[in-house]
Amino acid sequence: MYNDLDYEKAREVLLGAACTVGTERVKLSECAGRVLAQELIAEDNVPAFDRSPYDGYALRSADTAYATRKNPVRLAITEEIPAGSVASKALRPGFAAKILTGAPIPEGADAVIMFEKTEFTAECVSVFEPVKPGDNIVTAGEDVKKGEMLASPGDIIDPALAGTLAAQGVAEPLVYKRPRVAVISTGSELVEADCAPAPGKIRNTNRYTFEAALRRIGCEPVYMGIAGDGVETIADMLNKALEGCDAVLTTGGVSVGDYDLTPAAMEKCGAEILIRGVKMKPGMACAYAERGGKLIFGLSGNPASSLTSFYAVAAPALRKLCGRADCLPRVFSVGVSVEFKKKSPVTRFLRGRLYIDGSRARMELSSRQGNAVLSSAIGCDMMAIVPAGTPPLSGESTLKGFLV
Ligand code: AMP
Ligand code: MG
Repeated sequence: MYNDLDYEKAREVLLGAACTVGTERVKLSECAGRVLAQELIAEDNVPAFDRSPYDGYALRSADTAYATRKNPVRLAITEEIPAGSVASKALRPGFAAKILTGAPIPEGADAVIMFEKTEFTAECVSVFEPVKPGDNIVTAGEDVKKGEMLASPGDIIDPALAGTLAAQGVAEPLVYKRPRVAVISTGSELVEADCAPAPGKIRNTNRYTFEAALRRIGCEPVYMGIAGDGVETIADMLNKALEGCDAVLTTGGVSVGDYDLTPAAMEKCGAEILIRGVKMKPGMACAYAERGGKLIFGLSGNPASSLTSFYAVAAPALRKLCGRADCLPRVFSVGVSVEFKKKSPVTRFLRGRLYIDGSRARMELSSRQGNAVLSSAIGCDMMAIVPAGTPPLSGESTLKGFLV
């Protein structure tokens, strides 16, 4: 067990212990945001044939070599080729075929001229300038060439990948199963959101925060309920969660007070504690454990601390569980104007919003950064990292940050 780990090391330990939970085939129309579990190597050229990008006339460019405004070249129209059909015959010298956008170029033709550049009747088209070979022809494979590697396991199916899978005829791609992550709220003070809290009680907000956070990563949250503050009750719920789910996320009971019993409950149900405490603020108190290859993310009860731990430490491992290749957040430099009076003896995470000022990334810091101030995290899309040992911040600073 590691005590008080650096947050990057904590991430690494959890990443090392996380693995995917199997694969399944899912209808492409339901695949948005899912994680691909197969390679996609092009079996077909896209487009499969040379085609016209405009409505116009397919012709032989050599026929137009001497065309001028004064002496146009007149070509006899052989047929019309709408999108979805093919020419009935090859194009001979002196002829043109009317062609519509998306239709295949007839054999013999080597260029297309747009309607707008011609004069035409039903029988004949006049061309007023030479057309170069290849003009207005989209060649086969312009988008995708047969044999090209298009996607790999771990890629998220974004709109363009969904369309590209369709272009290759993959109607049911192989994707990683969504990991089922149990959510347990500990604390005798908690009541559910639809209850009026009696004196001293509070509504369970973490449940909803983490159901949403897990979904956003690609996990399927499975809410287990409120475990009080007893080792037995928490351990019972952990056992149930570990039986039916691929990982567990708990909140509360990970500090060092009399009622902080989550680590003891983890051990009672046979889990090994991997990390106890991470050197970061907020989110110092935590307990990450593992049983039978399943991770237990024991976060603090404080709503903003636990969300910080989630983004900074837990999320990479959860992304790996989902099969995602982009587990670690990409770090970038961000300008921030900040008055932060506290020293940062350990790594500190500040929440805020990214915006672009001219061409520079800047962060608008949330005004209240307290452990329990959840509302100040609404709309926050990034965290800035204040390195350990930084004195109070005043004025303009450049910090590293990542999107959450
Ligand atoms: P703990 O980590 O259990 O010591 O809790 C720290 C603080 O977070 C306490 O003020 C708790 O009341 C609060 N808290 C714990 N769990 C939740 C929860 N599920 N929703 C909202 N607040 C919570
Ligand atoms: Mg508690």
